[in-house]
Amino acid sequence: MLDIQKNQEWDFLVIGGGASGLGVALDAVSRGYKVLLVEKVDFGKGTSSRSTKLIHGGVRYLQQGNVSLVREALKERAYMLSAANHISKLQPFIIPFYSRLTGFYYFSGLKAYDLLAGSKRIGKTIWLNKKQVIKRIGNINSKGLKGGILYYDGQFDDTRLCIDLIKTIVKHGGTCINYCGVTDLVKDEEGNCTGAILKDEISNKEYKITARSVINATGVFTNDIIHMDDKKQRDLVKPSRGSHIVLEQEFLGGNTAIMIPKTSDGRVLFLIPWNGKVLVGTTDIATDEPAYEPKIEKEEIDFILNNTDEYLKQSPGRIDIKSTFSGLRPLAAPKDKNAKTKEISRGHQVIWTESGLCSLIGGKWTTFRKMGEDVIEDVIQKKKWVKTESQSETIQIDDEALRIDYSKPIKISLIKKIIKEEMVMTLEDLVARRTRLLFLDTEMTKSVLEEWCELLMEHLGKDQGWKNDQVQSVRNLITSGYEPIIRSK
Ligand SMILES: Cc1cc2nc3c(=O)[nH]c(=O)nc-3n(C[C@H](O)[C@H](O)[C@H](O)COP(=O)(O)OP(=O)(O)OC[C@H]3O[C@@H](n4cnc5c(N)ncnc54)[C@H](O)[C@@H]3O)c2cc1C
Repeated sequence: MLDIQKNQEWDFLVIGGGASGLGVALDAVSRGYKVLLVEKVDFGKGTSSRSTKLIHGGVRYLQQGNVSLVREALKERAYMLSAANHISKLQPFIIPFYSRLTGFYYFSGLKAYDLLAGSKRIGKTIWLNKKQVIKRIGNINSKGLKGGILYYDGQFDDTRLCIDLIKTIVKHGGTCINYCGVTDLVKDEEGNCTGAILKDEISNKEYKITARSVINATGVFTNDIIHMDDKKQRDLVKPSRGSHIVLEQEFLGGNTAIMIPKTSDGRVLFLIPWNGKVLVGTTDIATDEPAYEPKIEKEEIDFILNNTDEYLKQSPGRIDIKSTFSGLRPLAAPKDKNAKTKEISRGHQVIWTESGLCSLIGGKWTTFRKMGEDVIEDVIQKKKWVKTESQSETIQIDDEALRIDYSKPIKISLIKKIIKEEMVMTLEDLVARRTRLLFLDTEMTKSVLEEWCELLMEHLGKDQGWKNDQVQSVRNLITSGYEPIIRSK
């Protein structure tokens, strides 16, 4: 930590180690700027570990007529699938239909999706008959089924991408620190934001940092930083909770995902194969407060189970849920407070306050790079810096990937490597974000806690008391959120 003060002045201080902050830092280092990224908890601890893991243009936004948003995301989809090809893949989806008219509707919509992708198209939309659908999705409800529309999007592991991006940014000269939060902003006599006070969350020490530009990329915590800047500022972000449940692979019966195009609340719902399990989600519930551990509500579990029920031969029940997780969408707050979350813009926005603090809000994982590029371009223009060209599209994301096979017990040698190389500070970092065990299977998670924590304790030079606290803290996390069955008793 002391080293970061040796730098007289950073070009960029990026606050937040999620998709938005990483996109900004990546683009900035690609142009040769001196970049410091600080994350209050762990990289990806916020929304960026809780996504549906899709690299997508957003079929739903096309339905809403938001063509430019979809076109931009389709371009970035191609970028992500290529630059992060070690942790992303092509994912086939089927929209099953039980009336031919519905089939024609979705077929034409998805053909338009293909067309919009142009040369960046990653697969061809195809009309499948009933037999072909059953062949791909073993557990599909075949009663009354007429066929399905096959289309393609991408899939990735969000927190593994976070870690690989950190490695890439560091390789290109950037500095990234987890467990280091901004507690206040620093201003000069004219009220311009010139830096921040950082707090090392482990040692509690504070540091003052000077930067030519400060970027607020704190997702649903954006308003906190905005209020450090100006207490009277209106809120820029409105959170909306999206929850998932995780089931065994047999509830899909194949490697093709299902897209349910219209749920009872008029949204889409996905059942996607993920690391040997099936990820099902998501919901959309407006919430007032940001939170690090948003929790799935009983009604959301019922909503997900009820909406999947009619599409599956063998329907899952509560008892079949291996894990659950929720995330908060950092949506741009509408000026009209009554707007529904479904209607609030999913595009990103770059917002400046009088002090010169720049906030990046909204957007999605798929467009993280473009969001970063837009911010840096805006800074150069607003601050009249010498023009530089973005090179972020050509940077290959670090691919010294740790491939984890969740169908077998995870090797201890792999855990040791992760602990040594990936800035792991807590047991939760290890089970939730370096590996994805907590999100995949809470029972499996419980079985590794003692052994993994022992390794971490040795590496960090901690004592038995620390270890007991760490294990207890993850157990509490499991019972208070990820394991819905116990909580609902
Ligand atoms: C349920 C759900 C499903 C989604 N699915 C998809 C999908 O399939 N595909 C897709 O492309 N997008 C998806 N998204 C959108 C995408 O996940 C988000 O847009 C993205 O992760 C937001 O990233 P962020 O960096 O803005 O926020 P976050 O990931 O929340 O990062 C902000 C970070 O700032 C840190 N921070 C806060 N305060 C401070 C401080 N004072 N100092 C330092 N750091 C601080 C936090 O700890 C946090 O880690 C989904 C979102 C949700 C909620």
